Amino acid sequence: MAVNNNKLVLLTFTICRLIVTVVPELLDLGLQGRLSVDTWELEAASVDFGRLSRGEPSEVVHPATAEDVARVVNAAFESPFAVSARGHGHSINGQALIKEKKGVVIEMGKSDSGDNNDHNGDSNIIRVCEKGMYVDVWGGKLWIDVLSATLEYGLAPMSWTDYLYLSVGGTLSNAGISGQTFNHGPQITNVYELDVVTGKGELVTCSEDRNSELFHSVLGGLGQFGIITRARIALEPAPHRVRWIRVLYSNFARFCKDQEYLISLHGKAARERFDYVEGFVIVDEGLINNWRSSFFAASNPVKITSLNADGGVLYCLEITKNYDQGNADSVDEEIQALLKKLNFIPTSVFTTDLPYVDFLDRVHKAELKLKSKGLWDVPHPWLNLFVPKSRIEDFDKGVFKGILGNKTSGPILIYPMNKNKWDHRSSVVTPEEDVFYLVAFLRSALDTETLEYLTNQNRQILRFCHDSEIKVKQYLPHYTTQQEWMDHFGDKWTQFNARKMQFDPRRILGTGQQIFQFHP
Ligand code: FAD
Repeated sequence: MAVNNNKLVLLTFTICRLIVTVVPELLDLGLQGRLSVDTWELEAASVDFGRLSRGEPSEVVHPATAEDVARVVNAAFESPFAVSARGHGHSINGQALIKEKKGVVIEMGKSDSGDNNDHNGDSNIIRVCEKGMYVDVWGGKLWIDVLSATLEYGLAPMSWTDYLYLSVGGTLSNAGISGQTFNHGPQITNVYELDVVTGKGELVTCSEDRNSELFHSVLGGLGQFGIITRARIALEPAPHRVRWIRVLYSNFARFCKDQEYLISLHGKAARERFDYVEGFVIVDEGLINNWRSSFFAASNPVKITSLNADGGVLYCLEITKNYDQGNADSVDEEIQALLKKLNFIPTSVFTTDLPYVDFLDRVHKAELKLKSKGLWDVPHPWLNLFVPKSRIEDFDKGVFKGILGNKTSGPILIYPMNKNKWDHRSSVVTPEEDVFYLVAFLRSALDTETLEYLTNQNRQILRFCHDSEIKVKQYLPHYTTQQEWMDHFGDKWTQFNARKMQFDPRRILGTGQQIFQFHP
């Protein structure tokens, strides 16, 4: 009897919930996918990787087709109510959340497949075209799945993020950067065509030559102009293996000079440059033991404490060279020729060799380890900045050797990029100089005190940049007032705003970004 009563309560609750919270317009749309008000699905869509904010949608939609997405957005446009596309929910500051009372999250990454798998824009699509050297993928697909599918043809995308459990639509809404960016540009530079559902609920195919304003708006557009249902991504022959090398510097100026030299080799024949250039900052000893463990250190041993770190800080350059049968014999020679031109600490060459897939998927290994220790699903007060080359030494003095102290609570990445590899017509903003650095503070807070400490430190870093007139731009930006957004976009604000009025005039999309006010 007790069980039956419980069931009754549950049923009543569910019905009440349906009546109270469902956007009624959604019920009549004839979706091929699924509409859910299931408590755990709403909860899952209420948080993100950052775990710094919450926002519960009133419904979650799992689309099966692009048409499903168009129907939901069209209903939202007519009604109106807020709609956020969610890729894999790996944002930091609630960018894919719904903060409004009435609003729908479209789970692009957890779609329900429709009956017809060949449907254009179907959520199952990963279709490789060998002749055209591209792949068509559903916007919610993870990059790891794109890689697996293209490798079956011996092909792979050229430009990556460090971590592959991110969705195509999510990274294309930001930029998608990693150590290949200096040579191939960010992921948004490597897209041929998109299918996009605009804020008016129209499904539009766009490219450089067709509906180009929408195409450029959406790339780096922070989900403000439309929902990407399909992306056509450029491919190249996939290399088989990777030689992965790390070398250390105690002198920041030398470290930067070498990084900048290496990225100046972009566009050269593959044998004359590295394929990937990144780096990181080491301010505490704990980290060094971590990353050394999987590396061979033939020309070692090196004692980190004996390296005379400049102001207690060491810098690690991380580079790779891809190879396969074709250049296996010459790869060592090519690497030595490049290393000879660099000025690192001679005894500090750490090398490892692994399959291409394992290199690209390297962060996932760390994820699994952290997950097993309960250290993954914790708050992440990350800060990602683009710092102009001309001020990177000031940044080093003020932040790495100043504000940070000797505990970072996570990796700090630093690597330069060439601005000419970024298409200025996209929505993304970068510093005004030809070369700028990504500096990424990728921190985890295991308790409230640390969270507060790191959040304050992030504020201090931003204040330092402001007071020292270092014109940084946030990557994966987070602001809460429109004035801050206007400052962020600078000269591009007028265009960004006009594009919003054109493609999402009712401001229903991507409200979690807090750029535009949504008024129901
Ligand atoms: P979500 O967080 O789900 O969404 C992000 C934004 O995009 C939201 O505004 C959302 O509404 C919008 N959006 C999502 N899908 C679509 C779509 N189909 N169409 C239109 N808009 C959409 N970034 C890098 O560039 N390089 C890295 O190396 C890198 N490494 C990372 C490693 C980790 C562990 C994590 C957590 C993040 C990393 N990121 C990196 C950041 C990552 O690119 C962004 O957080 C990205 O937004 C995450 O993708 P997602 O699919 O989870 O997007």
